[in-house]
Amino acid sequence: MKLEVGVPPSGAPSSLAARIATMRANIAEAAHAAGRDPATITLVGVSKKQPRAALLEAIEAGLTDIAENYAHEASEKFVALPPVRKHFVGHVQSNKAKAIVDTFDLVQTIDRLETGRAIARAQRLRGKRLRALLQINISRDDRFGVAPADAPALAAQLRDEEDLEIDGVMAIGPLTNDRASIVSAFGEAARAFERVGGTTLSIGMSGDWREAIACGSTMLRIGTAIFGTRI
Ligand SMILES: *Cc1c(COP(=O)(O)O)cnc(C)c1O
Repeated sequence: MKLEVGVPPSGAPSSLAARIATMRANIAEAAHAAGRDPATITLVGVSKKQPRAALLEAIEAGLTDIAENYAHEASEKFVALPPVRKHFVGHVQSNKAKAIVDTFDLVQTIDRLETGRAIARAQRLRGKRLRALLQINISRDDRFGVAPADAPALAAQLRDEEDLEIDGVMAIGPLTNDRASIVSAFGEAARAFERVGGTTLSIGMSGDWREAIACGSTMLRIGTAIFGTRI
């Protein structure tokens, strides 16, 4: 079977620009319904396993933030890209810290002292500073992330000892259609965010961004709802 790239979910508008516009309109509507200002919510397009052409098209359509899960894949796709904020949302391995610092502006997935230290070392080496989020674990479906109760201490240690700019938290919601358990997990993320501090609560993906907005998300990470099915 031939796989088509960027095929939208059935019933969704077909062009990438139209899907981004629809997404933005839906986000604004959900924000207003939650009594929030849509301008406080950043839309990040997750372009993993999408071709560079799709990335360029999305940026052309006004997307300001893009995210990738693998530093190597990203470094190839990011060559000569128009200015855009680049987010790392994959698992941080210490031996990839330099590549992450070289390739990205923001790392969302620090979940251990060791990897935070590796990023800090790479930053000092490269003379470059990234915004960083702690990945917290709010779901049995997520293999990674620091326990919410341990997040404030990890943030304090990384800020004090390593001068990392921990600007909030990121979490992946549970893989379920049960809206109540999604809201409950996101509520836990929001409470951890309050204790960690910073400006960014990165929760909400293609299947759960409405609940994330209701729970205070300031950053949505959207892949398939914008780019279609991954290759
Ligand atoms: C792939 C991915 C996303 C986007 O997922 P969709 O369900 O396609 O929107 C968001 N966050 C992380 C960490 C991801 O790996």
